Amino acid sequence: MPSRIFLDANAGLPAREEVLAAYVRTEREAPANPASTHRSGRRAQAVLEDARARVAARLRCDAPQIVFTSGATEADNLGLVGAARALRRMHGAAPALFASAAEHPAALAPLRLLQLEGCPLTLVDIDRHARVDADALVAGMRGARAAVVALQWANNETGAIQPLAAVLAEATPDRVVHVDAVQGIGKLPWDAALEQASGLAVSGHKIGAPKGVGVLRLRDDVALDAVLAGGGQQKGRRGGTESPALAVAFATALDLAMDEQQDAARHTAACTDAFLGTLRAAGLSFKENHPPEATERLPNTCNLAFPGVDGRALMPACDLSGLDVASGAACSSGAALPSAVLRACGLNDELAQASLRASFSPNTTVQEAHEAARRLATLLRRLYEVANR
Ligand code: PLP
Repeated sequence: MPSRIFLDANAGLPAREEVLAAYVRTEREAPANPASTHRSGRRAQAVLEDARARVAARLRCDAPQIVFTSGATEADNLGLVGAARALRRMHGAAPALFASAAEHPAALAPLRLLQLEGCPLTLVDIDRHARVDADALVAGMRGARAAVVALQWANNETGAIQPLAAVLAEATPDRVVHVDAVQGIGKLPWDAALEQASGLAVSGHKIGAPKGVGVLRLRDDVALDAVLAGGGQQKGRRGGTESPALAVAFATALDLAMDEQQDAARHTAACTDAFLGTLRAAGLSFKENHPPEATERLPNTCNLAFPGVDGRALMPACDLSGLDVASGAACSSGAALPSAVLRACGLNDELAQASLRASFSPNTTVQEAHEAARRLATLLRRLYEVANR
């Protein structure tokens, strides 16, 4: 069996040793329920609030604006559904919803849910590389009395960086702009425009925390109805016992990811260049689904389409060759369907299915990137041979 090469960082990273150590230490040293009023509970509460303050400092907000969640899916659900229901309650009418097909299912599915509740949903166009039409979003928002917009920082499939500033300049208490920042954190330098986001979702396991923790950062002027009703934790915004250990793990991973962002970007960009360079040198023809300019996309991400290849064979062949790559979002890749994002970019089913994403982690070496491209070239030649027989 060939050694495995990990090219799927956008789906998630292994939890880092420092982070796991912080998790275990906190769980041992502050094991009580942070809502308990006895001394042990107060100790757990202090540890939790310290982690919240660390996260707030990194995400440029005040500590009470940070809500810990089970991950970005929950943060997106809370940010979108919670804000839309609050607007409907306050205005007595359903807010208009705006997004694009580039959004992750974690944001699109709650919008569909709100659509079933009577909120009109408009999906604006994306271009060939999954960049959102900001003008259409802004025009839609301006025409609505109350609106909720979902906009990602960067696309998980093509790596396209989205036009945050133009849309976030429109955010008001009645025109909520929720940003899914999952793919930008640790990969891109902090963008000051993010500070205007009504809600901001971050996932722990994409930055080296364990799976099962995330954050919603909420602007003070955003009204939010809780989605998880419960014991009133986190100022009533998210019921459920908080985990001080997961909060500390998240804060530790966020510190490391943001401190190391520049080095990680430089290294993963070198991996991407090595991968694409070796693939080109092998004489293979492919189309680039990612934005052409390096400044327009995540440094670690490329997305390629191979015309004429049977897409159904592509992922299994990569897997057999030891390549951990992806087609579409991780949660839907088991379904072997063509990527909905690439379809919305204008690719037909066949080409969308004959596409793959390679996303490099800071732990992948440049040598591995070259080797991955060589293996991919070999397996693609085999697939072309089969197709032309
Ligand atoms: N948003 C984006 C852009 C993602 O890439 C992902 C994960 O793939 C999510 C949301 C969901 O995050 P989580 O796995 O923490 O629920």
